Amino acid sequence: MKIISTDLDHKKKMQRRKEVQDQRLAQMKESKGLIIVNTGHGKGKTTAALGMVLRSLGRGYKVAIIQFIKGGWEPGEKIALSHWEKEGQLVFKAMGEGFTWETQDRQRDIEKTAEAWQSSLEFILNEDYKLVLLDEVNVAMKLGYLPVDQVLTGLEQKPEDSHVILTGRGAPSPIIEKADLVTEMTLIKHPFREQGIKAQPGIEF
Ligand code: ATP
Ligand code: MG
Repeated sequence: MKIISTDLDHKKKMQRRKEVQDQRLAQMKESKGLIIVNTGHGKGKTTAALGMVLRSLGRGYKVAIIQFIKGGWEPGEKIALSHWEKEGQLVFKAMGEGFTWETQDRQRDIEKTAEAWQSSLEFILNEDYKLVLLDEVNVAMKLGYLPVDQVLTGLEQKPEDSHVILTGRGAPSPIIEKADLVTEMTLIKHPFREQGIKAQPGIEF
């Protein structure tokens, strides 16, 4: 095969790039337990977190999912993940009683949130659990149902190697500051808003 000079230039350039990459990799840490926040008004906070749940389960890690605000239906993910629940590799708890406009009882919501946090803390402190997903916990904090300081103290006690994901709109700034990985989902279009389409199985639940 004829090798032209641009191919040689490219090869040299790539060799240099590889050296830089290898050097960078050599300086990087092997691992760190992360505090992960998925927030913002766009769709995908919970589903992105469930993607990490799936990856962790695939790696054989123990996972706990605590849902702070439960919808009025059984989510498809709970059905799909029931195999791991039976195997004892996953705990999946829906602790809330529904949206605030459904329960219409602030004191009861606060009590339910406190219970959900107690349960969450047990899993956060348990080093057997490599990943703990606190779904919609940001909303619970934003509504003032769960003190932010309590969550920060809990996260401080997290074992070195385990990951905690906090999802929900309006993540409080101290939580964002404390986190290692923060993603804000940006709303561009949503079929509910623009077209008045109800939540659909497989897409929303
Ligand atoms: P998902 O669970 O699909 O990843 P999410 O966690 O980002 O969504 P939440 O804030 O938890 O979204 O909202 C819960 C439900 O509200 C989901 O069914 C979602 O599709 C829907 N939803 C999300 N964003 C919007 C929006 N901007 N307008 C209306 N409904 C929305
Ligand atoms: Mg969600």
